Amino acid sequence: MFDALIIGGGAAGLSCALVLGSAKEKAFAKNKQVAIITHQKTSHLQSALFNNVLGLNPGTTGASILESGKKQLHDLYPHVNQIENEKVCSISKSTGGFIVETNKNNYEAKLVVIAVGYTNLMTIKGLEQFIEPHPRANIEKDRIWLKNTNHLIEENLYVAGTLAGWRSQFAIASGSGAHVATDILTLWNGGKHVKVHDKI
Ligand SMILES: Cc1cc2nc3c(=O)[nH]c(=O)nc-3n(C[C@H](O)[C@H](O)[C@H](O)COP(=O)(O)OP(=O)(O)OC[C@H]3O[C@@H](n4cnc5c(N)ncnc54)[C@H](O)[C@@H]3O)c2cc1C
Repeated sequence: MFDALIIGGGAAGLSCALVLGSAKEKAFAKNKQVAIITHQKTSHLQSALFNNVLGLNPGTTGASILESGKKQLHDLYPHVNQIENEKVCSISKSTGGFIVETNKNNYEAKLVVIAVGYTNLMTIKGLEQFIEPHPRANIEKDRIWLKNTNHLIEENLYVAGTLAGWRSQFAIASGSGAHVATDILTLWNGGKHVKVHDKI
């Protein structure tokens, strides 16, 4: 049983995992089991090239971030489980939270973050009732979002990144993932607001 399971290892999912992982010294997060399903074949990062993102060297490719992001997570926060090469097929409710079924395994999690991007090709069963046309994308692109309020779809079910209704920019998607992470940490901290900062 994971305490938090992130689905999708693109800009939002990896950012969410990094911030959750970085809270490992906080008492309320110490024993939490966090995992991310890093199936990355359909990530918009695969074909992206970044010149306009603060902190990224101009010319950085999205494909390289898919690799370096996983490595950063593994090197700094190895306690965050990375589940590779599995695609999520369905999400359903269980007594303790959610059952997430992939093409290879079943996982149980108390809390789930969906960060699979805003394409209408999204086929995860169990989410149909939350799908609506994307509020901030051109209609002819046929993008979708999962209806949410401040990233929360329903209790313990979050959405992050473009699928949360944000415009498709790397910094916005990453920020959305980080936002969700701090919401989860705040939840684990009994409602007391949390941020995770390192200092020189
Ligand atoms: C060609 C191109 C150029 C771009 N250029 C720029 C730019 O110059 N500047 C800029 O700021 N932004 C740019 N972007 C936008 C930026 O890449 C996106 O806004 C950002 O990647 C969106 O992040 P996300 O996390 O919402 O989705 P993604 O990064 O697409 O991540 C979604 C993740 O979910 C995974 N996934 C999907 N389905 C499943 C499933 N069933 N099970 C498990 N995992 C799943 C995917 O494989 C992927 O890893 C560009 C995008 C493209 C396509």
